[in-house]
Amino acid sequence: MSNEPFATGHCLCGAVTYTINGAPMRMAQCHCKDCQRASGTGHMSLAFFKANDVEIAGETASYAATADSGNVNTRHFCPKCGSRVFGENTGRPGVVGIAVGCVDENDWFAPEAVVYAASRPGWDVTSEEIPNFETMPPPPK
Ligand SMILES: [Zn+2]
Ligand SMILES: [Zn+2]
Repeated sequence: MSNEPFATGHCLCGAVTYTINGAPMRMAQCHCKDCQRASGTGHMSLAFFKANDVEIAGETASYAATADSGNVNTRHFCPKCGSRVFGENTGRPGVVGIAVGCVDENDWFAPEAVVYAASRPGWDVTSEEIPNFETMPPPPK
């Protein structure tokens, strides 16, 4: 066993840094309109980790929005540079969704699903070779 973390990352300005000490539980791309607005582009690429496996350093600001599932999705971002860093969802307690673009080495990212594909803009390309869900599929049991 090595002590190397699974991954490290930081926001654009470097004020928020994180270390991830375990492999992702789930990886997905989300085209919901909230993710489009929060990211300023067509989708978010998210890797979900056990919250206990992620150490975050630096202040974040956050914005909580209620998703159509009724769950509250709190998106954390750097107050200085605005990078989206991670999110938490009341439907997934103990899990954090890391915005993969802020991860230093992210070649391991392999989305297992595309969610809210019904909201995918015609100009944004994500794989249709993996399961695509019109909205949010029910959580795995
Ligand atoms: Zn920053
Ligand atoms: Zn979304």
